[in-house]
Amino acid sequence: MTSNTALMVIDGEDVPAVGRDWFETRDPASGEVLARVPRAAAADVDAAVRAGREAQPGWEALSPRERGTMLLAVADLIADRAEELTRLETLDVGKPLHEARVDVHHAERLFRFYGEVADKLPTEKLTVDGGFAFTDRIPHGVTGHITPWNYPIQLFARTVAPALAVGNACVVKPAEDTPLTSLRAARLALEVGIPAGVLNVVTGLGAEAGSALADNPDVDHLSFTGSRPTGERVMVASAHQMRPVMLELGGKSPSILLGDVNVAELVPTLRSAVLWNAGQTCDAQSRVLADRAIHADVVDALTAEFGQVKIGPGVEDHDLGPLVSETQHERVSALVAAARDAGGGRLVTGGGRPEGLDDGWFFEPTIFDVTDPATPIANDEVFGPVLTIVPFRDEREAVRIANGVRYDLAAAVWTKDIDRAFRLASQIRAGQVHINSWGIGSGVELPFGGIRQSGFGREKGLRALTEYSALRTTTVRVDPGR
Ligand code: ADP
Repeated sequence: MTSNTALMVIDGEDVPAVGRDWFETRDPASGEVLARVPRAAAADVDAAVRAGREAQPGWEALSPRERGTMLLAVADLIADRAEELTRLETLDVGKPLHEARVDVHHAERLFRFYGEVADKLPTEKLTVDGGFAFTDRIPHGVTGHITPWNYPIQLFARTVAPALAVGNACVVKPAEDTPLTSLRAARLALEVGIPAGVLNVVTGLGAEAGSALADNPDVDHLSFTGSRPTGERVMVASAHQMRPVMLELGGKSPSILLGDVNVAELVPTLRSAVLWNAGQTCDAQSRVLADRAIHADVVDALTAEFGQVKIGPGVEDHDLGPLVSETQHERVSALVAAARDAGGGRLVTGGGRPEGLDDGWFFEPTIFDVTDPATPIANDEVFGPVLTIVPFRDEREAVRIANGVRYDLAAAVWTKDIDRAFRLASQIRAGQVHINSWGIGSGVELPFGGIRQSGFGREKGLRALTEYSALRTTTVRVDPGR
């Protein structure tokens, strides 16, 4: 792809940054520049927030059905342009085409889901002394959305569609590594008639455009998906503005394998649960906790399975693409190198750049067989194709190890014994617990989010509509004489 220029979407216009500054987004499979992109500063963010402020009352004044109809039209257009969006996502993020296709499909479903429910939100009526009261939900106003680079179009849709459905105007700051599909999706929204200023996308660096959005006093709600340290920063900035925030942060999610599972049957699922998107998934199952009775079999089977993984550029649609950026490659390499030195686990397979892939930011599927559950590689989020396998003696130890990390995003329990499955699942602290399943419910209907260091608030499902709106109670006095 030849290098070209992308523009931001502010107040319905395609615009460069006021200061005419740019940054580059690159193809992770080759390191080549895909496009130059506006490097927004506070003035650009202010313009986008102002546009949102002006457009929001008109958007809120539309009936929920009218807003929903437009969201459904966005869904249709995403479906129409699915292959183009898929290719763009693959080029920008590096993921194989079949994975990007799933993401685009999810983006479509998210717009469809919130389009369909926009006019079906329940209200409640309460009887009070002297009359009655009813509650309804009102939009926050202008909502800010800072999104990460791992699932750009899907997370754009996940955060924007519910916010729009309830009548907010949005300002989105996509990650600097992967801004292209968010810009494209915002243009599709304009094409279907979503009014200028209702959906704005500002591109730029986190420390500049991102922090300008978090510091903007006219943003009424901020949703953030990304790393734990940046989440803390935007939460502090939001505290200064006294505004609600929703944070979806990292994870170190365990798959607990009890001794009765069929290891061979399970291995392909365990592989994709950690290697999907090269492990750059917040709820990647990056820890397998295996009953001692099957631990050696699990290590052997997963090592063999990882050995089969075909690696290459996303556009060639292999099993595994590159990591998103050089920075991410350096992070993962450093964590793996530190783990090799630290002891507490044995590197069983992988550990570096795959042979023959010298360009781009490829990393081999990697397994550590862990002897000390406290070792950092079994506790810290790697966000790369790195699996740790940890043995446990009994259910108590399994629960202790599963709950022993700082993150509580997701977990899975695998066993044929349904009593044990429920007993274990009920002891796991996580926003999502899966029993004998992985990947079901990754759609749009289920609430998704974390506990403790994994953040708070829930995206997806009907819950997200609660996040993106405020509760209003209206009281009515009824004169008993009449
Ligand atoms: P990573 O370090 O893996 O890039 P981040 O959590 O920093 O993950 O990035 C997630 C999103 O947060 C991106 O859109 C990024 O630009 C943005 N971001 C980074 N730093 C800041 C900041 N200081 N304030 C606001 N947003 C930021």
